[in-house]
Amino acid sequence: MDLVRKVLLIYTGGTIGMVRDKNTKTLVPFNFDNLLSLVPELELLDCDIDTYSFRNPIDSSNIHPDDWIDLAKIIGDKYDDYDGFVILHGSDTMSYTASALSFLLENLKKPVIITGSQLPMGYIRTDAKENLITSIQIAGDYTDEGYAKIQEVALYFEYKLYRGNRTTKHSSEHFEAFASLNYPHLAVSGVHLKYKCDVMQPKNDKKLIIHSSLNRNVAILKLFPGITKEVVRAIINIENIEGLIIETYGAGNAPSSDWLITELSDAINSGLVVLNITQCPAGIVDQDLYEVGMQMKKLGVIGGRDMTIEAAITKLMFVLGSPELRKNPVKSLRVNLRGELSNSENKF
Ligand code: ASP
Repeated sequence: MDLVRKVLLIYTGGTIGMVRDKNTKTLVPFNFDNLLSLVPELELLDCDIDTYSFRNPIDSSNIHPDDWIDLAKIIGDKYDDYDGFVILHGSDTMSYTASALSFLLENLKKPVIITGSQLPMGYIRTDAKENLITSIQIAGDYTDEGYAKIQEVALYFEYKLYRGNRTTKHSSEHFEAFASLNYPHLAVSGVHLKYKCDVMQPKNDKKLIIHSSLNRNVAILKLFPGITKEVVRAIINIENIEGLIIETYGAGNAPSSDWLITELSDAINSGLVVLNITQCPAGIVDQDLYEVGMQMKKLGVIGGRDMTIEAAITKLMFVLGSPELRKNPVKSLRVNLRGELSNSENKF
Protein backbone atom coordinates (compact mmCIF):
# COMPACT_ATOMS: atom_id res chain seq x y z
CA MET A 1 0.00 0.00 0.00
CA ASP A 2 1.23 3.52 -0.82
CA LEU A 3 2.34 5.64 2.08
CA VAL A 4 -0.01 8.54 2.81
CA ARG A 5 2.21 11.63 2.94
CA LYS A 6 1.68 14.35 5.50
CA VAL A 7 1.71 18.00 4.47
CA LEU A 8 1.60 21.07 6.70
CA LEU A 9 -0.23 24.00 5.11
CA ILE A 10 0.86 27.33 6.58
CA TYR A 11 -1.30 30.39 5.94
CA THR A 12 0.30 33.83 6.16
CA GLY A 13 -2.30 35.83 4.20
CA GLY A 14 -2.25 37.34 0.72
CA THR A 15 -4.87 37.70 -2.01
CA ILE A 16 -5.58 33.96 -1.99
CA GLY A 17 -7.52 34.33 1.26
CA MET A 18 -8.80 37.89 0.87
CA VAL A 19 -12.35 39.22 0.66
CA ARG A 20 -13.62 42.61 -0.46
CA ASP A 21 -14.25 45.00 2.42
CA LYS A 22 -17.84 46.29 2.15
CA ASN A 23 -16.96 49.86 3.12
CA THR A 24 -13.62 50.52 1.44
CA LYS A 25 -14.13 48.08 -1.45
CA THR A 26 -10.48 47.07 -1.10
CA LEU A 27 -9.20 43.51 -0.65
CA VAL A 28 -8.37 42.66 2.97
CA PRO A 29 -7.03 39.44 4.53
CA PHE A 30 -9.67 37.00 5.81
CA ASN A 31 -9.50 33.96 8.05
CA PHE A 32 -8.13 30.58 7.10
CA ASP A 33 -11.25 28.50 7.83
CA ASN A 34 -13.14 30.58 5.32
CA LEU A 35 -10.45 29.92 2.75
CA LEU A 36 -10.44 26.16 3.29
CA SER A 37 -14.23 25.91 3.16
CA LEU A 38 -13.96 27.13 -0.44
CA VAL A 39 -11.77 24.18 -1.46
CA PRO A 40 -13.68 20.95 -0.77
CA GLU A 41 -11.33 19.28 -3.31
CA LEU A 42 -8.66 19.09 -0.59
CA GLU A 43 -10.58 16.13 0.86
CA LEU A 44 -9.91 14.22 -2.35
CA LEU A 45 -6.13 14.53 -2.22
CA ASP A 46 -4.41 11.36 -1.08
CA CYS A 47 -2.32 13.04 1.61
CA ASP A 48 -3.03 14.15 5.16
CA ILE A 49 -3.16 17.91 5.49
CA ASP A 50 -2.76 19.79 8.75
CA THR A 51 -2.99 23.54 8.90
CA TYR A 52 -1.32 26.39 10.74
CA SER A 53 -2.35 30.01 10.37
CA PHE A 54 -0.74 33.33 11.26
CA ARG A 55 -2.91 34.74 14.05
CA ASN A 56 -3.45 37.87 11.96
CA PRO A 57 -3.12 37.06 8.24
CA ILE A 58 -1.32 39.85 6.41
CA ASP A 59 -1.02 41.43 3.03
CA SER A 60 2.50 40.40 2.10
CA SER A 61 3.56 44.05 1.78
CA ASN A 62 3.67 43.87 5.58
CA ILE A 63 6.01 40.87 5.75
CA HIS A 64 9.05 41.42 7.93
CA PRO A 65 12.35 39.55 8.45
CA ASP A 66 11.02 38.46 11.88
CA ASP A 67 8.18 36.66 10.05
CA TRP A 68 10.76 34.81 7.92
CA ILE A 69 12.55 33.70 11.07
CA ASP A 70 9.20 32.58 12.57
CA LEU A 71 8.36 30.63 9.42
CA ALA A 72 11.76 28.93 9.47
CA LYS A 73 11.24 28.03 13.14
CA ILE A 74 7.77 26.58 12.47
CA ILE A 75 9.21 24.39 9.71
CA GLY A 76 12.12 23.39 11.95
CA ASP A 77 9.79 22.45 14.84
CA LYS A 78 7.51 20.40 12.58
CA TYR A 79 10.18 19.04 10.24
CA ASP A 80 10.11 15.46 11.50
CA ASP A 81 6.31 15.31 11.63
CA TYR A 82 5.64 16.21 7.98
CA ASP A 83 6.82 15.12 4.55
CA GLY A 84 6.36 18.53 3.01
CA PHE A 85 5.28 22.11 3.65
CA VAL A 86 3.12 24.55 1.69
CA ILE A 87 3.16 28.24 2.57
CA LEU A 88 0.29 30.40 1.36
CA HIS A 89 1.61 33.92 0.90
CA GLY A 90 0.80 37.15 -0.92
CA SER A 91 2.49 37.34 -4.27
CA ASP A 92 3.88 40.88 -3.84
CA THR A 93 6.82 39.84 -1.64
CA MET A 94 6.68 36.10 -2.22
CA SER A 95 10.10 36.02 -3.92
CA TYR A 96 11.70 37.81 -0.96
CA THR A 97 10.21 35.28 1.46
CA ALA A 98 11.21 32.34 -0.74
CA SER A 99 14.77 33.69 -0.96
CA ALA A 100 15.04 34.42 2.76
CA LEU A 101 13.74 30.96 3.69
CA SER A 102 16.19 29.29 1.33
CA PHE A 103 19.04 30.83 3.33
CA LEU A 104 17.48 30.23 6.76
CA LEU A 105 16.83 26.52 6.06
CA GLU A 106 20.14 24.77 5.48
CA ASN A 107 20.35 21.11 4.33
CA LEU A 108 16.66 20.96 3.47
CA LYS A 109 15.60 17.56 2.19
CA LYS A 110 11.86 18.06 2.14
CA PRO A 111 9.79 20.33 -0.11
CA VAL A 112 8.85 23.80 1.07
CA ILE A 113 6.49 25.17 -1.58
CA ILE A 114 5.35 28.78 -1.50
CA THR A 115 2.26 29.75 -3.42
CA GLY A 116 -0.60 32.22 -3.57
CA SER A 117 -2.78 33.69 -6.27
CA GLN A 118 -3.67 36.75 -8.28
CA LEU A 119 -7.41 36.43 -7.53
CA PRO A 120 -8.97 35.43 -4.19
CA MET A 121 -10.13 31.85 -3.71
CA GLY A 122 -13.78 32.94 -3.69
CA TYR A 123 -13.68 34.48 -7.18
CA ILE A 124 -15.15 32.49 -10.04
CA ARG A 125 -12.07 32.95 -12.32
CA THR A 126 -9.61 32.35 -9.53
CA ASP A 127 -6.15 30.90 -10.08
CA ALA A 128 -5.97 30.00 -6.38
CA LYS A 129 -7.37 26.47 -6.52
CA GLU A 130 -4.90 25.11 -9.03
CA ASN A 131 -1.98 26.80 -7.32
CA LEU A 132 -2.97 25.42 -3.92
CA ILE A 133 -3.88 21.88 -5.01
CA THR A 134 -0.78 21.34 -7.16
CA SER A 135 1.49 22.81 -4.49
CA ILE A 136 0.13 20.30 -1.98
CA GLN A 137 0.66 17.49 -4.47
CA ILE A 138 4.27 18.55 -5.02
CA ALA A 139 4.83 18.84 -1.27
CA GLY A 140 3.75 15.21 -0.88
CA ASP A 141 5.51 13.86 -3.98
CA TYR A 142 8.19 11.28 -3.18
CA THR A 143 10.07 8.73 -5.25
CA ASP A 144 9.49 5.01 -4.73
CA GLU A 145 12.82 4.97 -2.87
CA GLY A 146 11.40 7.49 -0.41
CA TYR A 147 13.15 10.69 -1.52
CA ALA A 148 11.27 13.95 -1.81
CA LYS A 149 11.20 15.02 -5.46
CA ILE A 150 11.82 18.61 -4.40
CA GLN A 151 14.34 19.19 -1.64
CA GLU A 152 14.44 22.95 -1.48
CA VAL A 153 12.34 26.10 -1.13
CA ALA A 154 10.37 26.37 -4.36
CA LEU A 155 7.66 28.68 -5.65
CA TYR A 156 4.65 27.33 -7.54
CA PHE A 157 2.50 29.65 -9.66
CA GLU A 158 0.42 29.19 -12.81
CA TYR A 159 1.54 25.67 -13.78
CA LYS A 160 5.24 26.19 -13.08
CA LEU A 161 7.49 25.31 -10.18
CA TYR A 162 10.55 27.52 -9.77
CA ARG A 163 13.58 27.60 -7.52
CA GLY A 164 12.31 30.15 -4.96
CA ASN A 165 15.47 32.25 -4.73
CA ARG A 166 15.63 32.64 -8.53
CA THR A 167 12.17 34.20 -8.88
CA THR A 168 10.90 37.74 -9.31
CA LYS A 169 7.32 38.95 -9.46
CA HIS A 170 7.18 40.36 -12.96
CA SER A 171 3.49 40.99 -13.52
CA SER A 172 0.91 42.52 -11.22
CA GLU A 173 -1.99 41.38 -13.39
CA HIS A 174 -1.16 38.24 -15.36
CA PHE A 175 -1.80 34.87 -13.81
CA GLU A 176 1.76 34.03 -14.81
CA ALA A 177 3.05 36.52 -12.25
CA PHE A 178 6.55 35.12 -11.68
CA ALA A 179 9.64 34.67 -13.77
CA SER A 180 12.94 32.95 -13.19
CA LEU A 181 15.01 34.47 -15.95
CA ASN A 182 18.44 33.16 -15.00
CA TYR A 183 17.46 29.62 -14.06
CA PRO A 184 15.12 27.06 -15.66
CA HIS A 185 11.95 26.03 -13.86
CA LEU A 186 12.03 22.89 -11.71
CA ALA A 187 8.76 21.37 -12.91
CA VAL A 188 5.79 21.99 -15.17
CA SER A 189 2.26 20.94 -14.38
CA GLY A 190 0.19 19.76 -17.31
CA VAL A 191 -1.61 16.48 -17.64
CA HIS A 192 1.40 15.14 -15.71
CA LEU A 193 3.72 16.81 -13.27
CA LYS A 194 7.05 16.83 -15.08
CA TYR A 195 10.17 17.42 -12.98
CA LYS A 196 13.68 18.11 -14.17
CA CYS A 197 15.46 14.89 -13.25
CA ASP A 198 18.38 16.53 -11.47
CA VAL A 199 16.18 17.92 -8.71
CA MET A 200 15.24 14.41 -7.61
CA GLN A 201 18.70 13.35 -6.48
CA PRO A 202 19.09 12.83 -2.74
CA LYS A 203 21.67 15.25 -1.41
CA ASN A 204 24.01 14.84 1.55
CA ASP A 205 22.78 13.35 4.82
CA LYS A 206 23.55 16.45 6.87
CA LYS A 207 20.91 17.44 9.41
CA LEU A 208 18.63 20.41 8.86
CA ILE A 209 19.96 23.63 10.36
CA ILE A 210 17.52 26.45 11.13
CA HIS A 211 19.20 29.84 11.12
CA SER A 212 17.59 32.67 13.01
CA SER A 213 19.59 35.79 12.41
CA LEU A 214 19.14 38.39 9.67
CA ASN A 215 20.91 41.73 9.71
CA ARG A 216 18.59 44.60 8.77
CA ASN A 217 21.28 47.27 8.40
CA VAL A 218 21.20 46.98 4.64
CA ALA A 219 20.02 49.20 1.78
CA ILE A 220 19.61 49.27 -2.00
CA LEU A 221 20.90 52.13 -4.11
CA LYS A 222 19.47 52.11 -7.62
CA LEU A 223 21.50 54.12 -10.13
CA PHE A 224 19.87 56.29 -12.78
CA PRO A 225 21.36 58.78 -15.22
CA GLY A 226 21.63 62.08 -13.35
CA ILE A 227 21.71 60.63 -9.84
CA THR A 228 23.22 63.27 -7.57
CA LYS A 229 26.01 63.12 -5.03
CA GLU A 230 23.47 64.07 -2.34
CA VAL A 231 21.29 61.03 -3.03
CA VAL A 232 24.26 58.65 -3.01
CA ARG A 233 25.69 60.25 0.12
CA ALA A 234 22.36 60.13 1.96
CA ILE A 235 22.17 56.35 1.41
CA ILE A 236 25.83 55.50 1.99
CA ASN A 237 25.88 57.52 5.21
CA ILE A 238 22.78 55.98 6.79
CA GLU A 239 23.59 55.44 10.45
CA ASN A 240 24.68 51.85 11.19
CA ILE A 241 24.53 50.74 7.57
CA GLU A 242 26.63 47.58 7.08
CA GLY A 243 25.66 46.31 3.65
CA LEU A 244 24.65 48.06 0.43
CA ILE A 245 23.44 46.73 -2.90
CA ILE A 246 24.25 48.99 -5.78
CA GLU A 247 21.87 48.32 -8.66
CA THR A 248 23.97 49.01 -11.71
CA TYR A 249 23.49 49.05 -15.46
CA GLY A 250 24.03 46.13 -17.83
CA ALA A 251 26.87 43.82 -16.86
CA GLY A 252 27.50 45.72 -13.60
CA ASN A 253 28.48 49.15 -14.89
CA ALA A 254 28.33 52.50 -13.09
CA PRO A 255 29.21 56.06 -14.11
CA SER A 256 32.88 56.90 -13.79
CA SER A 257 32.32 60.25 -12.02
CA ASP A 258 35.09 61.04 -9.56
CA TRP A 259 32.64 61.87 -6.79
CA LEU A 260 30.93 58.47 -7.06
CA ILE A 261 34.26 56.63 -6.98
CA THR A 262 35.34 58.64 -3.94
CA GLU A 263 32.06 58.08 -2.07
CA LEU A 264 32.12 54.34 -2.71
CA SER A 265 35.80 53.97 -2.01
CA ASP A 266 35.58 55.83 1.33
CA ALA A 267 32.56 53.78 2.36
CA ILE A 268 34.20 50.46 1.45
CA ASN A 269 37.43 51.45 3.23
CA SER A 270 35.39 52.15 6.35
CA GLY A 271 33.92 48.64 6.25
CA LEU A 272 30.73 48.92 4.18
CA VAL A 273 30.04 45.72 2.22
CA VAL A 274 28.93 46.71 -1.29
CA LEU A 275 27.35 44.17 -3.64
CA ASN A 276 26.85 44.84 -7.35
CA ILE A 277 23.55 43.61 -8.86
CA THR A 278 22.42 44.48 -12.36
CA GLN A 279 19.17 46.31 -13.05
CA CYS A 280 18.65 43.96 -16.02
CA PRO A 281 16.00 41.33 -15.25
CA ALA A 282 18.23 38.70 -16.89
CA GLY A 283 21.97 38.20 -17.25
CA ILE A 284 25.05 38.37 -15.13
CA VAL A 285 27.29 40.97 -13.48
CA ASP A 286 30.77 40.72 -14.93
CA GLN A 287 32.98 43.45 -13.54
CA ASP A 288 35.78 42.48 -15.93
CA LEU A 289 33.88 43.28 -19.10
CA TYR A 290 33.93 47.10 -19.30
CA GLU A 291 36.22 49.72 -17.88
CA VAL A 292 33.24 51.20 -15.99
CA GLY A 293 32.69 47.79 -14.37
CA MET A 294 36.34 47.17 -13.68
CA GLN A 295 36.52 50.41 -11.70
CA MET A 296 33.86 48.98 -9.33
CA LYS A 297 35.90 45.84 -8.86
CA LYS A 298 39.04 47.83 -8.12
CA LEU A 299 37.18 49.70 -5.38
CA GLY A 300 36.27 46.41 -3.71
CA VAL A 301 32.65 46.21 -4.87
CA ILE A 302 31.59 42.54 -4.88
CA GLY A 303 30.13 41.23 -8.15
CA GLY A 304 26.72 39.63 -7.45
CA ARG A 305 26.71 37.56 -10.66
CA ASP A 306 23.17 36.58 -11.69
CA MET A 307 21.36 36.91 -8.38
CA THR A 308 17.92 38.51 -8.35
CA ILE A 309 17.58 41.60 -6.21
CA GLU A 310 15.32 39.58 -3.86
CA ALA A 311 17.96 36.89 -3.39
CA ALA A 312 20.73 39.47 -3.08
CA ILE A 313 19.14 41.58 -0.34
CA THR A 314 18.10 38.56 1.74
CA LYS A 315 21.52 36.95 1.25
CA LEU A 316 23.17 40.18 2.39
CA MET A 317 20.97 40.14 5.53
CA PHE A 318 21.87 36.49 6.08
CA VAL A 319 25.62 36.81 5.53
CA LEU A 320 25.92 39.94 7.69
CA GLY A 321 23.76 38.27 10.34
CA SER A 322 26.07 35.26 10.61
CA PRO A 323 29.24 35.75 12.70
CA GLU A 324 30.90 33.00 10.67
CA LEU A 325 29.93 34.10 7.13
CA ARG A 326 30.58 37.80 7.72
CA LYS A 327 34.25 37.12 8.51
CA ASN A 328 34.77 36.88 4.76
CA PRO A 329 31.82 38.68 3.13
CA VAL A 330 33.38 38.60 -0.35
CA LYS A 331 33.62 34.82 -0.33
CA SER A 332 30.25 34.32 1.40
CA LEU A 333 28.38 36.53 -1.05
CA ARG A 334 30.11 35.09 -4.12
CA VAL A 335 29.70 31.47 -3.14
CA ASN A 336 26.61 29.57 -4.23
CA LEU A 337 24.89 28.85 -0.89
CA ARG A 338 21.46 27.54 -1.98
CA GLY A 339 21.41 27.59 -5.77
CA GLU A 340 20.79 31.36 -5.83
CA LEU A 341 23.61 32.10 -8.28
CA SER A 342 25.31 30.39 -11.16
CA ASN A 343 28.71 29.04 -10.32
CA SER A 344 31.49 31.57 -10.47
CA GLU A 345 34.94 31.05 -11.80
CA ASN A 346 36.06 32.72 -8.56
CA LYS A 347 36.64 36.07 -10.22
CA PHE A 348 36.01 38.18 -7.13
N1 ASP B 1 -1.17 42.48 -2.08
C1 ASP B 1 -1.26 41.04 -2.13
C2 ASP B 1 -0.20 40.46 -1.22
O1 ASP B 1 0.94 40.41 -1.59
C3 ASP B 1 -1.09 40.57 -3.53
C4 ASP B 1 -1.19 39.07 -3.72
O2 ASP B 1 -1.33 38.29 -2.82
O3 ASP B 1 -1.13 38.63 -4.87
O4 ASP B 1 -0.50 40.07 -0.12
